[in-house]
Amino acid sequence: MDLMICNRMLDKDRRQQLSRLRLELRRLREELAQTLKPGFEGTPLVKGNVYDRAYRCGAARCVCRRGQLHRNVGLGWSEDGRARFRQVPPDRVGELRRKSADYLRLRQARATVTVLGKKIVGVLDQIQEVRREEPFDA
Ligand SMILES: [Zn+2]
Repeated sequence: MDLMICNRMLDKDRRQQLSRLRLELRRLREELAQTLKPGFEGTPLVKGNVYDRAYRCGAARCVCRRGQLHRNVGLGWSEDGRARFRQVPPDRVGELRRKSADYLRLRQARATVTVLGKKIVGVLDQIQEVRREEPFDA
């Protein structure tokens, strides 16, 4: 009976390593759960980035020549690898800022999931090594 229990248990050193790895795995699971939150939202998104622009119009006698730059808000995005831009009408600035921010959060979540996925795979590989035993005597 003692022998059977013994055969089914890892030695103390490996149990400690496993305990440390499980702690890390729990931490990554929690981080993954937090990261995935934007994936459970259902509001509309707008692809792109809303930003404030300040520019000179190019007219020879305009005030912008003397430093009073024109200001507006733009939406920039890329489509088929090309940079696109549209001016945002003032009455839609708030709405498009929110929808763009939600889009950017989802993209950020996606990037973080890729990084976390690699870390999780790394921990699972270490767990495999710690638990692994040779099935036969050499
Ligand atoms: Zn001007």
